[in-house]
Amino acid sequence: MEQVVALLSGYFWPTLMNTFENSLSFAQALDGADPLRSFRDEFHFPQHDGGPVVYLTGNSLGLQPRAAAAALKQELDDWARFGVEGHFQAQHPWVSYHEELAGNTARLVGAKEEEVVVMNQLTSNLHFLLVSFFRPDGKRKKILCEQRPFPSDTYAFASQIAFHGGDPETDLVEVKARAGEHVLRTEDILAKIEELGDELALVCFGGVNFYTGQVFDMAAITNAAHAVGAIAGFDLAHAAGNVRLKLHDWDADFACWCSYKYLNSGPGSVAGAFIHERHLNKGLPLFAGWWGHDKKERFKMEPTFKPMPTAEAWQVSNAPVFSMAVHRVALEQFDRAGMERLREKSEQLTGYLAFLIDAVAKETNTNLEVITPSDPAERGCQLSVFAHGKGRDLFDALTKRGVIADWREPNVIRMAPVPMYNSFEDVYRFGVILKELLA
Ligand SMILES: *Cc1c(COP(=O)(O)O)cnc(C)c1O
Repeated sequence: MEQVVALLSGYFWPTLMNTFENSLSFAQALDGADPLRSFRDEFHFPQHDGGPVVYLTGNSLGLQPRAAAAALKQELDDWARFGVEGHFQAQHPWVSYHEELAGNTARLVGAKEEEVVVMNQLTSNLHFLLVSFFRPDGKRKKILCEQRPFPSDTYAFASQIAFHGGDPETDLVEVKARAGEHVLRTEDILAKIEELGDELALVCFGGVNFYTGQVFDMAAITNAAHAVGAIAGFDLAHAAGNVRLKLHDWDADFACWCSYKYLNSGPGSVAGAFIHERHLNKGLPLFAGWWGHDKKERFKMEPTFKPMPTAEAWQVSNAPVFSMAVHRVALEQFDRAGMERLREKSEQLTGYLAFLIDAVAKETNTNLEVITPSDPAERGCQLSVFAHGKGRDLFDALTKRGVIADWREPNVIRMAPVPMYNSFEDVYRFGVILKELLA
């Protein structure tokens, strides 16, 4: 313990691997040395029995930044004060609201500012991007995705295939895990891409699979897709704000994400999209609306669509300012914390959770099978646990004790301590409750 605490001065995270201890003093020592610890105070925590819950569901709905209310009130006040003039007179003028989000968004996903735009909702953005990037042509008409993608993505892929006159039964292909395995092997993903070859129109994976928590090798998938002449796109719902992203350098063609999971921007809040610069200003087919029209001429209301030379061309409608106000505050927190520092803490936090689950399983003689990869490079915050035989009961008991985790059929408990506002003590408290319930 002394030795560990001695390491805590200065920059210490990487040295701590494999030296975790199952004790409150150890968890508190880590919290004391956490350079990001003050961010916790910037969030509202739901309460249970007079104290904060153990909130492990940032992968589903992130907590509310305390600054959100004032940001929202500012827009309400500006609306009250200026009416329509708020488009230009508001403190954050509504006509250009989305532009204020581009810098932070670009840094978050590893893109250039002109490659990103905040707009719409996630599945809507996926559809709008598929309009441009899923262009089945002759035998090149298949979409390849990971096993068990989020159902909304499956619906989007299948309906797009049907829309183009194809058959989702044959044209939507999932890479499957090997018998007895839960996660995909990169070699199998790449082999499948090669096998489908010139039948493949699009490879579209989640950056992080929602069910297993596996992070996919987006650079390798992109390269393999391009090598067979296919497009590579990513749904980053569980990746944005969770793992390091370098969309531009990886050469991904497009991506989209939501803001209410790891990005803490509130239920149903506005989403994001990325289009690689090599596709900008190239006359790609898109579903157009006035907010994608050249902004210098937008209010001339000319009948011919003249798209902006940036990702903004994909905007159809004017900006949902209320949800953008919250998103602006949340993105600003990410920018201050820095994805690099968040990720460094996250590896330790989730590592500590894995350590405690393992310790409790041994002490209580229970089979808790973590199906998420154990290599920190292949996972983000989330661990998905198969609690053989006692999944649902255990989950309900955890909830009663003030642990907010997340249940997925058929038998998986998902837990995601997030580095922005979760503490090592949160994770420790979870371990204590888990042990009590299993003992
Ligand atoms: C959460 C999630 C969605 C939800 O879609 P919305 O359009 O935001 O309702 C879709 N796809 C993935 C991969 C998700 O994780």
